[in-house]
Amino acid sequence: MEGGCIFCDIISGRLPAVKLYEDSYVVVFLDICPASPGHALVVPKYHAESLEDLPEAYRSRLLSTVARVAPAILRAVGGEAYNVLINNGRPAGQEIMHVHLHIVPRRTGDGCKTLYCRRTKPGWEELKALGERIRAAMRAS
Ligand code: AMP
Ligand code: ZN
Repeated sequence: MEGGCIFCDIISGRLPAVKLYEDSYVVVFLDICPASPGHALVVPKYHAESLEDLPEAYRSRLLSTVARVAPAILRAVGGEAYNVLINNGRPAGQEIMHVHLHIVPRRTGDGCKTLYCRRTKPGWEELKALGERIRAAMRAS
């Protein structure tokens, strides 16, 4: 989807990026507006908006690529840990509509908050009823 998608343009080389890793399924490059030093994006070489639209061969490569690249990122930036995040869909914060996974290096006390939502405490019966509805939705699909 060249011309309409920034990440497809990076994959094709039409736009520049600081690439960390590349194979036939994925490319990993540094985020230009990082949440912490070393913040990187793992991007499948297939244009799909969401995780559900991605062929399984590409989808499964996302996580194995994290395991391969993240330890090296941490060593290079002196990170202690990292968050893995996918903003899947606009209401979830997705701005680039080509599915991608964020690796955000973390350090103790860095003050970074990756999930701001206030937590609730539903009752056990409420959780069980919701579980039943979700399992029914899976059976129906
Ligand atoms: P999301 O909100 O999950 O869609 O995240 C999009 C991410 O892409 C943001 O963290 C941006 O800083 C990053 N980004 C946007 N354009 C570029 C670019 N040309 N090169 C690298 N990262 C980018
Ligand atoms: Zn794309």
